[in-house]
Amino acid sequence: MTWRRYVSRVVDRYWIYGKAPQGLEVLRGFQLPLVVPEAHNPHPTHMNNHHRIAFTGSTCALAVLLGACASPAPAPTPAPGAASDPPAIHWVRTAAEHDLLFQQTYAWIAERVEARASGLERGSWAVIVDADETVLDNSEYQLRRSRQGLGYTSDSWAVWVREEAAPALPGAVSFLRRVKELGGRVAVVTNRNEDVCEPTRRNLAAVGLTVDVVLCRQPGVSEKETRSRSVQDGTTSAGLPPLEIVAWVGDNIHDFPGGSQELRNSDPGSLADFGVRFFLLPNPMYGSWERNPPS
Ligand SMILES: [Mg+2]
Repeated sequence: MTWRRYVSRVVDRYWIYGKAPQGLEVLRGFQLPLVVPEAHNPHPTHMNNHHRIAFTGSTCALAVLLGACASPAPAPTPAPGAASDPPAIHWVRTAAEHDLLFQQTYAWIAERVEARASGLERGSWAVIVDADETVLDNSEYQLRRSRQGLGYTSDSWAVWVREEAAPALPGAVSFLRRVKELGGRVAVVTNRNEDVCEPTRRNLAAVGLTVDVVLCRQPGVSEKETRSRSVQDGTTSAGLPPLEIVAWVGDNIHDFPGGSQELRNSDPGSLADFGVRFFLLPNPMYGSWERNPPS
């Protein structure tokens, strides 16, 4: 069993059900990683290795856990075939830190959602989650394209989506299951195009991601706030009633109402929703941050 799968299984099994294994309990109290993510166009035309992830103490906690915080270790010898993979893709697909960050963050979001929904009637509230690199892992697509020396294209992306082969990201299945147990609804608001919405629904279901509605991008409309409002207003095609949104989860700053790269330069007061009802996950492979000017 790989380390990635081992971590996913162990943490998923114990943590979500309130019995954190010794050693992992220490992670629960740490803050979310502060992530500077991504994009309006979720699939840019090139890979950018200048991914910017600013971690809080949680990263150090992870590093301590992994015995890597004391002094720089000598650079490991890359596995055959991995040497030329962009570091961002290699990290997403192999790093223990990646999987632990997802497990840790989803467990923490579940606690926050439970607290926020505690006074709400069952069936009256929802969480809104993005799809790609939030609950679905498309790093296989990124890897294939990279190893072919190619970048994102809408045609190759559509082929990948129609494979319905994206696995769930660590912690996502348990999180959505917990939302349902608490009486919440799950709305996926994704910028996958409407013409691949059905394969997306099947992919989500096949990997155990139980959702109530998937709202894909209509032609020419990439912003997500209108679709979020339709969930709140009860005007989605799924026939759901008006729902109070207790949490948004995404890997892209544009997954959140009012989100933009400009928030990085905003005063702390304007970031008050993050960690309260907005929850970010790390995506160093692509994002709107790629269009930021050089630092
Ligand atoms: Mg995304």
